[in-house]
Amino acid sequence: MYSNSLIELDRAHLVHPVASYRSHERTGVRVLKSAKGATVTDASGHTMIDGFAGLWCVNAGYGHDSIVEAAARQMHELPYATGYFGLGSEPAIRFAAELAERAPGDLNHVYFTLGGSDAVDSTIRFIRYYYNAQGRPEKDQFISVEQGYHGSSTVGAGLTALPAFHAGFGIPLDWQHKIPSHYSYRNPAGSEPAAIIAASVAALRAKVEELGAERVAAFYVEPIQGSGGVLVPPPGWMRAMRDLCRELDILFVADEVITGFGRTGPLFACTDEDIVPDLMTTAKGLTSGYVPMGAVFLSDRVYDTIADGAGTSAVGHGYTYSAHPVSAAVGLEVLRLYENGLLENGIKAGKRLMAGLQGLGDHPLVGDVRGRGMLAAIELVVDKVRKTPLPAAAEPSRRIFDRAWDNGLVIRAFGNGVLGYAPPLCCTEDEIDAIVERTRMTLDETL
Ligand code: PLP
Repeated sequence: MYSNSLIELDRAHLVHPVASYRSHERTGVRVLKSAKGATVTDASGHTMIDGFAGLWCVNAGYGHDSIVEAAARQMHELPYATGYFGLGSEPAIRFAAELAERAPGDLNHVYFTLGGSDAVDSTIRFIRYYYNAQGRPEKDQFISVEQGYHGSSTVGAGLTALPAFHAGFGIPLDWQHKIPSHYSYRNPAGSEPAAIIAASVAALRAKVEELGAERVAAFYVEPIQGSGGVLVPPPGWMRAMRDLCRELDILFVADEVITGFGRTGPLFACTDEDIVPDLMTTAKGLTSGYVPMGAVFLSDRVYDTIADGAGTSAVGHGYTYSAHPVSAAVGLEVLRLYENGLLENGIKAGKRLMAGLQGLGDHPLVGDVRGRGMLAAIELVVDKVRKTPLPAAAEPSRRIFDRAWDNGLVIRAFGNGVLGYAPPLCCTEDEIDAIVERTRMTLDETL
């Protein structure tokens, strides 16, 4: 049983991220106590398969001794080192070099953050600096994609297109612009890949014309839109958008905070389409969620322009915990695991997961099944032919989440009837099959 005092303490003191504070006070917290591999156990001893890897991050699975040992070793040897004053630590330097070696194209320069939001935030500052260094300060308008999520920092949240991240805040975002999502299942252009790509290209071109290309700084994409409901663009979409950005002299930024580190198969989803962005953001799987860290990758051109622009002056961007040595040591070990079987297992498990979820397509509630690798979603509808969405309220999603939990499965139940899957890449075949079976059981109970 949960300790009542823990629930009371949580209610009274812990402010939760992205939550209705009042609803949460009513419902009370569910306390997770321990985890191993792909399984998590709550404080009452109930075990579940974590079909969402925490928050799409624990790619290596829980309780990996070698990761814990890497952190402990580093904590004993050098728990902290600043990157200010020309100082550095060995794990941070090695991790940056290992990442640069594996990143697409000339993304050779790595700036470490604490997570994804500040990675996105950093790109905005770097991009402004880049254009100012070229004497083009008027290039200060940013474009992203509806249904996109790019974190909730004060500035970076502007790129996020989910209404909940703006409602009630009233922070002016007039330098922010959006084009419609490629959302294949509900795209007014139809479901044909060529038509969806053409519509997105036309929308970006029109938006840039409206603003004036000389004013547009950058265009941000997620290789797969995660928090918007796991929306997978058709093959060729990323390349078409990247090419258009090149043509229009706009920086192309790939936000790989979810898709990076094996989530879709390879280390970076950009390589699925052989794309080299101008900047790339990562976090989550970077350290498999064991410790906080994000990383911004800068191309040679962007880095050199900023460096030359600053000359002998400092580029005034940095945090106390930039390039934290413990996070870097963890990242190095996680990277070793990816390349010693984890990515390979994720690819195999991802095929099984997609096949299993496709098998749920016959269920009366399942309107769409989509995904790539170990990143997937099913979209529930009331009427399959009309694609009538489930009522857009938190309650049905909460009920589905609760039922899945009782059935031994943690999933993400988005408010619009979309169920999200991002299991640890270490999942066994049996665990993948259990994810699918428990989903079916949950859907049957929801009918
Ligand atoms: N960018 C994307 C694509 C994300 O999915 C997220 C988080 O889910 C972020 C940025 C923000 O990352 P964080 O929550 O680590 O700040």
